[in-house]
Amino acid sequence: MNFELTEEQRLFQDAVRAFARDNLAEGALERAHQGEYPRDVAKLMAENGLLGITIPEEDGGQGGSLMDAVIAIQEVAMHCPRSADVIQAGSFGAIRVLAAYGTPDQKERYLKPLLAGESLIAVGMTEPDAGSAVTDLRTTATPDGDGLRINGQKCFTSHSPEADVFLVYVRYGPGVDGIGSVLIPRDAEGLEFGQATPFLGGDDWAPLFFTDLYVPPENILLREGGFKKQIAGFNVERIGNTARSIALGRLAFETAREHALTRKQFDRPLAEFQGLQWKFAEMQMKLDAGQLLLYRAAVNADNGFPSAQETAIAKAFCNEAGHWISSEALQVMGGTGYSQETLVEYCFRRTRGWMIAGGSIEILKNRIAEGVFDKRFSQRPPRAK
Ligand SMILES: Cc1cc2nc3c(=O)[nH]c(=O)nc-3n(C[C@H](O)[C@H](O)[C@H](O)COP(=O)(O)OP(=O)(O)OC[C@H]3O[C@@H](n4cnc5c(N)ncnc54)[C@H](O)[C@@H]3O)c2cc1C
Repeated sequence: MNFELTEEQRLFQDAVRAFARDNLAEGALERAHQGEYPRDVAKLMAENGLLGITIPEEDGGQGGSLMDAVIAIQEVAMHCPRSADVIQAGSFGAIRVLAAYGTPDQKERYLKPLLAGESLIAVGMTEPDAGSAVTDLRTTATPDGDGLRINGQKCFTSHSPEADVFLVYVRYGPGVDGIGSVLIPRDAEGLEFGQATPFLGGDDWAPLFFTDLYVPPENILLREGGFKKQIAGFNVERIGNTARSIALGRLAFETAREHALTRKQFDRPLAEFQGLQWKFAEMQMKLDAGQLLLYRAAVNADNGFPSAQETAIAKAFCNEAGHWISSEALQVMGGTGYSQETLVEYCFRRTRGWMIAGGSIEILKNRIAEGVFDKRFSQRPPRAK
C-alpha cells in the first residue's frame, strides 16, 4: 500500500496550486461574499484545462481520473473556496451525467459551452415534498407527440437564479423505475422562477415551476429506469462535496494555525496554550483521516464512478470533520474568526450546507448501516398485512 501521490499527480497538484495562487488567491475574500457564480473564473479555468477534468477527451474534456479532479478541486478550494464551485460544476456535478448519458447532439448543444466556461448547468431533483425521500418526486413527464409535457416544481436548486440549462428529474410513471430526466433551457416557455433568497453559504436559490412545459425529444436525457444511472453519476457529485469539505476545513485550520502563532494574549502566543494545542491536534487527526477516506473512494472509482458505500463513508465523515474543524478554527481566532476579515467564517457556513446537500449525513449513515448489516432497511412505514 502506498499513501503517496504518483509523480504525475504531484506535478499536476503543483501546477494547479501555482495557478490558484497566481490567479485566484487575490480576491478570494471578495468572491466568497459575492452571491453570483464567478463566470470570469470559469472562462479562465476553461483556458487552463481545468474544466471537464473527468470528461473523456472525445467529448471535449481532459480525460483525467476522478483522483485528478479531487486534486484540482482541493488545491483551488484552499486558495479560493468560491472558485472551487467552478471545478465542482465543471467536473463533478450534472455535467458528468450529461457526458455519460447525453446524445452527441445534446453534448454539442449543452456540454460544449459548459466545457468552454460559457454556460452553467443546475440539477433540479429536490421538491417540496421530496427531499431525503427523493424518489417520491412528483414532477410529471407526459407524452406529447414525440416529446413530453412537464408539470411540477423544484426547490433548493443550487445556481438556479443564473443557470443556463437545468437537468431536471421527472416522473414518467410510478415507482423508482418511473423516474428519468430531461434538459430544460432557462428560456423554455412554461418555466417560471419564484423569489430568489440566499442559502446560509451566501449563494442564492429560487424555486422552479414547470407549467405544461414542452420538452422536445432531442432534450430527453434519460427515459424510465434512468434513476439508478443518475445516482451512480451523483456519487461523483458527492465526492466533489466531500473534497471541498476537507479542503475548506484545511483552509480554516491553516488560517487559525498562523493566527495562533502570531496573536499574543497574556504575553504568550495563543499556540502556547495547551487548551488550544489540543484543538489543533484533533483538527489534524480529522484532516488526515478524512483525506485518506476521500482518496480511497476516489482511487477505487470504477470507470470514474466511485462506490456508493465508500463515497457515503467518506462524505459523512468529511462533511462532519470539515464543519467541526472550521468551527474550532473560528473559536481559536476569537472575534477575528467570527468576523469577515478572513475566510474562516465562510468555511464554517459553506461546510454546514454540505452536511445536508447531496445526501444528508443521516441518509448517508442509513446507507452505511445497510453495508454493515448487509441488509436493506426500508425507511417507509411497514405495510398493513
Ligand atoms: C446548500 C444546499 C444545496 C443544495 N443544492 C441542491 C441542488 O442543486 N439540487 C437539488 O435538487 N437539491 C439541492 N439541495 C437540496 C437537498 O438535496 C435537500 O435539502 C436534501 O436532500 C434534504 O432534503 P430536505 O431539505 O427536504 O430535508 P428532509 O428530507 O425534510 O429532512 C429533514 C431532516 O431529517 C433527516 N431525515 C430525513 N429522512 C431520514 C431518515 N430516513 N433517517 C434519518 N434522518 C432522516 C434529514 O437528514 C434532515 O436532517 C441543496 C441543499 C442545500 C442545503
